[in-house]
Amino acid sequence: MKPYSKRAQKITASTTMRIDAQYKQMLAEGQDVVGFGAGETDFNTPEHVKKAGILAIQNNLTRYTAPAGTEELRKAIAAKLLRDRDLEYAPNEIVVSSGGKHMFYITLSCLLNPGDEVILPAPYWVSYKEQIEMCGGIAVIVDCDENRNFDLNADDIARAITPKTKAIIINSPSNPTGRMVSRNVLEKVAKLCVEHKIFAISDEIYDNLVYEGKFTSFATLSPQIKDLTILINGVSKSYAMTGWRIGYAACNRELATLMASYQSHSTSSPATMAQKAAVAALDGDQSCVEEVRQAFIQRRDVFLKKAAEISNIKIIPPQGAFYIMMSVEAFVGKTMYGKVINNADDFAELLLQRAGVAVVPCGGFGAPNYLRWGYATSTENIIKGLDRLKGFIDGK
Ligand code: PLP
Repeated sequence: MKPYSKRAQKITASTTMRIDAQYKQMLAEGQDVVGFGAGETDFNTPEHVKKAGILAIQNNLTRYTAPAGTEELRKAIAAKLLRDRDLEYAPNEIVVSSGGKHMFYITLSCLLNPGDEVILPAPYWVSYKEQIEMCGGIAVIVDCDENRNFDLNADDIARAITPKTKAIIINSPSNPTGRMVSRNVLEKVAKLCVEHKIFAISDEIYDNLVYEGKFTSFATLSPQIKDLTILINGVSKSYAMTGWRIGYAACNRELATLMASYQSHSTSSPATMAQKAAVAALDGDQSCVEEVRQAFIQRRDVFLKKAAEISNIKIIPPQGAFYIMMSVEAFVGKTMYGKVINNADDFAELLLQRAGVAVVPCGGFGAPNYLRWGYATSTENIIKGLDRLKGFIDGK
């Protein structure tokens, strides 16, 4: 047999998936396990959104749409960006795709030539790095300072710029840190982008899940930066619609046209009935978004209060999204339950086996001594999980 593609073989299988598979296996065996791995909310899609999807099927909206998505949905996205962010985009500057993740892939496919560099602040969402490499680019990792809560530093970004830099990725609020980039830092980064003609891919998928501080959409900073920005968002996180697979990008018309054409040869168009449901989500009553946000504030506070009772761990205080990063560096090099802990991956594996708590180790996110706890779960589970962590650490 001839070899499979080098591109595909370079993809790193994630520890996240291994831990998740173990967790699901333990659940299936009836074991008492608590999961903090999910990257999706535990709420259900709002009723009016589900009804719009059902109605679309009943009305036979079951055929292809335009590759960039329906005009109706692109208008609803334009209206959302104007309403929430004071950003003006025409429908032909918007492309809809099968989820924010795929939108990201289409974006990189249309931006990168082999060897182009993309600046990626760490910790980063695991798929960014893989996708940059899948598209022939080079991920230039800029480590953010853990003693400053991993907040982005514009001087570090400036140092990473070379003539090959094509783009920078900004994710605020961030998965996995839950931190937001301040307006002041965003302004400095925007200045660098304009000066060096670098594209900014601004992943704003958690824009509605902000608990502290004010969210700034990158493209609002100046007309010049708007032209260089590819704003990525979707309905997955804000409206509990992960399975519907609708994400979108807003950018200059030339690039949007290119992305639509790229998409026309890869997925044809996103699912028609899901697009109808997304219109209902974006145009409909927004109180469902606020309800979810309030629930997350409560859960985050419970988590932080409980975690403060546990010794030898360090927490990065989150301002948005639904993740909390926890340093387990104090245990690295130590032996726990007869096993040497080399990194957070080892800690997470042992925590699952011994205490029945599933968390995501952040090796694949560029932070090998950290765990990511997703608090898209009930407060009962949060209390149970952290009690178990305490017992695990205390050897009880
Ligand atoms: N961006 C970030 C930072 C994410 O965490 C996710 C999902 O986990 C996505 C994008 C993509 O979400 P979706 O493909 O469901 O729209």
